[in-house]
Amino acid sequence: MAFKPANNIQDLQYFGEFGGVNPSISDSSTYTFLSAKTMFDTFEGNADGCYLYSRHSTPSNLYLGQALAAMEGTETATVTASGMGAITAVLMQLCSAGDHIVSSRTIYGGTYAFLKNFTPRFNIETSFVDITKLETVEAAITPKTKVLYCESVSNPLLEVADIAALSKLAKKHNLKLVVDNTFSPLSISPTQLGADIVIHSLTKFINGSSDTVGGVVCGTQEFIDNLRNVNDGACMLLGSTMDSLRAASILKNLRTLHIRMQQHSLNAKYLAERFEKDGLKTVYPGLESHTSHELFKSMMNEKYGFGGMLTVDIGSLDKANALMELMQKQNLGYLAVSLGFYKTLFSAPGSSTSSEIPVEEQKEMGLSDGLIRFSIGLDADIERTYTMMNTCMKELDIL
Ligand SMILES: *Cc1c(COP(=O)(O)O)cnc(C)c1O
Repeated sequence: MAFKPANNIQDLQYFGEFGGVNPSISDSSTYTFLSAKTMFDTFEGNADGCYLYSRHSTPSNLYLGQALAAMEGTETATVTASGMGAITAVLMQLCSAGDHIVSSRTIYGGTYAFLKNFTPRFNIETSFVDITKLETVEAAITPKTKVLYCESVSNPLLEVADIAALSKLAKKHNLKLVVDNTFSPLSISPTQLGADIVIHSLTKFINGSSDTVGGVVCGTQEFIDNLRNVNDGACMLLGSTMDSLRAASILKNLRTLHIRMQQHSLNAKYLAERFEKDGLKTVYPGLESHTSHELFKSMMNEKYGFGGMLTVDIGSLDKANALMELMQKQNLGYLAVSLGFYKTLFSAPGSSTSSEIPVEEQKEMGLSDGLIRFSIGLDADIERTYTMMNTCMKELDIL
């Protein structure tokens, strides 16, 4: 496996036009051609190394795309203006009217809303299933199914998908397995386990500084070319292209991802173990009590750990809200959605990021009112953080 750059970051070598140690940013929306013939060839997709118009691609976007493709071990990648810009483009590219998608029911709220409310307008229907039950997944597949969709570690319940087994199912029924790997960059490498297409919201861990939205689609050269095709490519025609300035800034943040992921994982594991010992209902894939602990272990790139996300069920929304407000007051983190920041972020997904999912369905999938989702930060002294969180919980009679 030729993984780079995130764990072989020193191998990444893109110079600026004056020998700068960072690649130059292509600050142009359009590009000149020396001959009219080359312009025609580029439109036809036959002129390698030539740029046309920045909605199609730019040197800065290609640098970032190549780096992320190397990280996921795919032939290539294309970067998008947001994670949703990647997800919606991929699904619209793979499906036509009359097609069917089988998706995990515990997915990002925006993806759920897109599949539940938006794609039916184009006669693309989705069956939502418990992705951990392979028989249920297979039973939902029909002759019209084109895509099997899941998150490697699901939002917000932290269910783990058996990517190798799902890939076998996908191959058997001639489907594309699309995996959103936003929660577990570096820890899990879905294409190495058989996924066809890997998506990330770069907004989260990969960029890591909560200053931008961004996304990426990693896949074969053929599929990425299709997405960017001027005649029928979803990225090209729906316009979810990333801006060059952003691509350049995300590439710089990518260089510290391996260190950040190790620290997020270390801190999250420490807190999860302590919370569980205190008797709190804690979900973290790194805990032996997690139903998919062994599965995660069998898939993971060990060095990066079990990731920075954990959930705790405090029992009621009122208590969860009180705890989050108190923790924020003590500067232990921020009451905010999103994840992958240097500070710990917490929110109650039932009433925020997963509020697109109807209450009855939330109940059925085990998403309770009192659930707090934590994205654990890069705290240098996590023992101190734990002690302070423990004090907050005692103050509110949670412990
Ligand atoms: C945030 C998120 C998305 C959407 O990404 P944006 O960059 O906000 O568009 C998709 N999937 C997961 C798992 C996410 O956490």
